[in-house]
Amino acid sequence: MRVARFIACTLWLVAIGIVAGGVALQAYQVRLPGAPAALTFVDAPASPQTLAATGPAAGTKCPVDKAYENEDTGGMQPDAVAAWLLTVRAGEAAGKTLCLNDGKRSLQQQQAEYDDQVRRYGAQWAADHVLTPEQSMHVKGLAVDVQPLTSARWLEETRGALGWCRRYGNEAWHFEYDAKYKRMGCPVLQAQPGA
Ligand SMILES: [Zn+2]
Repeated sequence: MRVARFIACTLWLVAIGIVAGGVALQAYQVRLPGAPAALTFVDAPASPQTLAATGPAAGTKCPVDKAYENEDTGGMQPDAVAAWLLTVRAGEAAGKTLCLNDGKRSLQQQQAEYDDQVRRYGAQWAADHVLTPEQSMHVKGLAVDVQPLTSARWLEETRGALGWCRRYGNEAWHFEYDAKYKRMGCPVLQAQPGA
């Protein structure tokens, strides 16, 4: 089954060497689970990290599950934003609605989340399960929490072909962006953040 999925998500690097503004962009084609045909994407250039930027405090309701929100991509890195917007379109082509329940967080937002978990469950639990602001890819503008989980599962099945990988066994909704995942696939799942 895993092999079949892997083949279904096989990524063809086209590498036609588009050069725009001195930045080499790479076009690539990918066939995604549920999509009728291969889609062509062009990478956005990488950008400096935006640690200080604040993410949206809230979004609109996720149209397919009102328990979740659909934030905008404010504060995320431009290459991750471009990849996310392409991913939403690719999901639609495969019949899946992807909502951005949480994207960019500021240092202060992540620290508040960490402190809240310390208060609720204790310092050791928090250290094992929640990343500090310095470690969090949400703070770096490179992580998305995807809902509903049926859509998150679809994204996981793309196995990095769109630049997004699930990273933690206990967070089925959390994906991180790295352009190299498109070529190399996803790293091995860690049990949990901080493990
Ligand atoms: Zn997350």
